[in-house]
Amino acid sequence: MRPMQHSSKLQNVRYELRGPILQAAKAMEAEGHRILKMNLGDTAPFGLEAPESVVVDMIHHLRGAQGYSDSKGIFSARTAISQYYQTRGLMTIGVEDVFVGNGVSELISMTLQAFMENGDEILIPAPDYPLWTAAVTLTGGNPVHYLCDEEENWWPDMADVEARITPRTKGIVIINPNNPTGAVYPRHILEQFAALARKHDLVLFSDEIYEKIRYVDAPHIHTAAVAEDVCVLTFSGLSKAYRMPGYRAGWVAVTGPRTVTAAYRESLELLASLRLCANVPAQHAIQTCLGGYQSIEALIRPGGRLREQRDLAWKLLTAIPGVSCVPAAGAMYLFPKLDPEIYPIASDEKFVLQLLQEQKILVSHGTAFNWPTPDHFRFVILPAVEDIEEAVRRISTYLAAYRNR
Ligand code: PLP
Repeated sequence: MRPMQHSSKLQNVRYELRGPILQAAKAMEAEGHRILKMNLGDTAPFGLEAPESVVVDMIHHLRGAQGYSDSKGIFSARTAISQYYQTRGLMTIGVEDVFVGNGVSELISMTLQAFMENGDEILIPAPDYPLWTAAVTLTGGNPVHYLCDEEENWWPDMADVEARITPRTKGIVIINPNNPTGAVYPRHILEQFAALARKHDLVLFSDEIYEKIRYVDAPHIHTAAVAEDVCVLTFSGLSKAYRMPGYRAGWVAVTGPRTVTAAYRESLELLASLRLCANVPAQHAIQTCLGGYQSIEALIRPGGRLREQRDLAWKLLTAIPGVSCVPAAGAMYLFPKLDPEIYPIASDEKFVLQLLQEQKILVSHGTAFNWPTPDHFRFVILPAVEDIEEAVRRISTYLAAYRNR
């Protein structure tokens, strides 16, 4: 047989968060090194466990969850999701508007595939959660990045968003709260997105998976709440606030006038049926998660573990000369800036690889999030206080040597 080739469809698809640097870290671990991992938004390795009541509930349902489910998801889960949104003012979301998937990740691909033609453009924030960029590329579309403004709380630069709209633009991705910046968007920003969608006939993809993880008093506003006349896809799931990313449970709710969305809904139903259904045991956790005590609140309020880790990481990182950082208003990350005058970095990928090799600590380079310049990195705030202290100590040592080169 001839050697097999890469599919040409994968040519520009990148997902560096699980790429060569992670492989290098694994190889070092295999050699016996202990690596401090501040790179992945996975709660489980850091003792941030799923609520016990939810795990017990899933075990209880396990025997009865052996068969396939409806492709859109089990009825009780979809009812719980629609009721959740209704109690938050999104009165039009009914059971039929909800699709349950194997995490938000699967639904990102599915919702893009359902309407993209080759060469269509989707606007995506820079920096972004890079799965969005990869998924658009995989459908044959062109990801076009709009800038978020570090000087303005990392909110989207709305003039830049509008300037990038062309006749080929089909939709806009909004990640709120944002990974990697932690930004939480105010109403006026979301209203401007809605106005652009109305004016240019665009779909809004609103990734709200961190909606319950906020450290500021500002409320989380659903994009769909300010854009009832627009097709909005609202994504969320159990991976973050309920700390069960491995169980793979997420959902998308479709809103907007039925006259506009009818064909799109049919395409989504077809694609959902092609993969038969989402993981059924995890679907049984959805109702329990949404209906019960929201244990995430104890972690994010003042004195809560995540809040303390976020505060400490920000304080220690910004004490390093030439490092600045917008405090995260939400989510589980900081996205610090390295002053290019002090740290003239040509390749931030090499920069974090060298940090890994010299200091045995893993962070993610900013350009992996489609940030255009090599002057940021993402620091995950999930590890415990001692690990955050040790991690920042090692980053500080590495940066001091870098300054003195
Ligand atoms: N959206 C954002 C913004 C994320 O940060 C992540 C995971 O880190 C996902 C979606 C994927 O979530 P899921 O585990 O539901 O696939």
